Amino acid sequence: MWGCHASQEAPGVQRGCYTAAMTKRLWIETVGCQMNVLDSELVVAALRRQGWEMARSSGEADAVFYNTCSVRQHAEDKIYSALGRIRSVKAQRPDVVVGVLGCMAQKDQELIRRRAPWVDLVVGPGQLHQVPGLVAEVLAGGGPRIEVSLERKGHAREAIARSFESYDPDRDPAMRPTPFQAFIRTQTGCDKFCAFCVVPHVRGPEQARAPDTIVAEARKLVAEGCREITLIGQTVNSYRWSDGGRTTRLSDLLARLDAIDGLDRVKFVTNYPRDMTDDLIAAVRDLPKVCHYLHVPAQHGSDAVLARMKRGYTIGEYMEMLGRVREALPQAAVTSDFIVGFCGETDAEFQTTLDLVRTAGFKNSFIFKYSPRPGTKSYDRLPDDVPEDVKKERNRLLLEAQEAVSLAGNRRFVGTRQQVLVEGLSTRDEKREVDPGPDGSAQLTGRTMCDRIVVFDAPVRLVGRLVDIDILAAGAWSLAGVVADGLGEAVPLDGLRLTGEEPVELHSIALPPPVARPMEA
Ligand code: SAH
Repeated sequence: MWGCHASQEAPGVQRGCYTAAMTKRLWIETVGCQMNVLDSELVVAALRRQGWEMARSSGEADAVFYNTCSVRQHAEDKIYSALGRIRSVKAQRPDVVVGVLGCMAQKDQELIRRRAPWVDLVVGPGQLHQVPGLVAEVLAGGGPRIEVSLERKGHAREAIARSFESYDPDRDPAMRPTPFQAFIRTQTGCDKFCAFCVVPHVRGPEQARAPDTIVAEARKLVAEGCREITLIGQTVNSYRWSDGGRTTRLSDLLARLDAIDGLDRVKFVTNYPRDMTDDLIAAVRDLPKVCHYLHVPAQHGSDAVLARMKRGYTIGEYMEMLGRVREALPQAAVTSDFIVGFCGETDAEFQTTLDLVRTAGFKNSFIFKYSPRPGTKSYDRLPDDVPEDVKKERNRLLLEAQEAVSLAGNRRFVGTRQQVLVEGLSTRDEKREVDPGPDGSAQLTGRTMCDRIVVFDAPVRLVGRLVDIDILAAGAWSLAGVVADGLGEAVPLDGLRLTGEEPVELHSIALPPPVARPMEA
């Protein structure tokens, strides 16, 4: 260790010692969707195999990485300001490797180094497998590196696809937020090219992973203690794999995962409305481990806006799809995304989105103000002409409408018993930094089969297990209850009743905030 100390006083002089004698520590910040969460998990796992450890703060790290998102301007702004803050750290400790990974690296490329010349590594989503080698090169004095994929225009599809290599190395259970839950990628990239969306440009062409690879990964995760798997793809239900004349669809893949012993739950996000086929709906209905939770973003309530967005369906077609879902799965939770203030959106057009939210019965909706993204069709061809204060007000009105619908939906559960996968401390107890020890009781949080958040008091040892909860109260974004059959030390909640006739809105305990946006920055 002494040698390393010396290297810090004279950076650059004793670099050899630095890498050889000291365990290097990594700090990584991740914004964006589940794809990014998974990519960060995999990058960390790869570096840990090379002897890296996680730092407790960015201040003590030998490498600081930002895994980035480009879906909205706000997500990029956050990273550029973080890069501004890291500048002084880099000035004091020039050996620290600063890396920008993921979608913004692919989108902005050299621009990142022009705006923040102290960045050492710019690595796109298609080059993440190179990270360990690139860090070693930078530490050895090789200078800054930019590694990104080909642009989607001006090259053959094959060549573009090859340049977006799927990154799926071995998993490391220690690197997941919880060891009993895991994401598995079904496909990379996207070919839908919605007018507003940067994803096809930064994540490349849609490329499916082989079903055998996905199933083998699932089996391995389950053998390591994983109980819930969430399949992720930009449009996961477009999944198709053809092999020797046989085609595997998402429904076939779900059936294979459902058969894995030891696995309790399977989810999948995000669905594209047009690909919500009957075989998939039947699979969700018939396979006991598949959660009754379907995230199928509508984006807007008006045909004219959907056409401007190039979404490829009308609202009538969306409602027809929803009707098929409701008929087969009356209890399923359907959720949506909406964009307010898209180019040219009139008051009347916005009203159609409000009407849709009021009538469609979504469990919840993620609502975004339109953010023009360079490289997309709407950026090139349509003016961003809805003023910011109008976007804000429409966002507020839509959220208000959704909140009322969500509350009414959740109230139907008061008085019922729900099986919950216990995920960990509630946001309240996490904030309080409660540490009750494994046998102590705390306010915990978990999710039902239809993805509703439930908070309850119970021993911490229940984390990672399936537990029955009697639901006592409902808020718009979560339910509260007690462990059924006295398994936990349930704490009575004053004034709440089990009958469900007159459910009481919950005020006596802190409800977690609205669910984190699955694909949010
Ligand atoms: N294919 C994934 C990721 C898309 S980004 C999915 O469907 O979830 C997630 C959401 O962000 C989209 O559904 C859309 O509602 C929103 N979004 C995408 N581009 C946007 C933009 N330019 N401005 C505002 N919101 C956007």
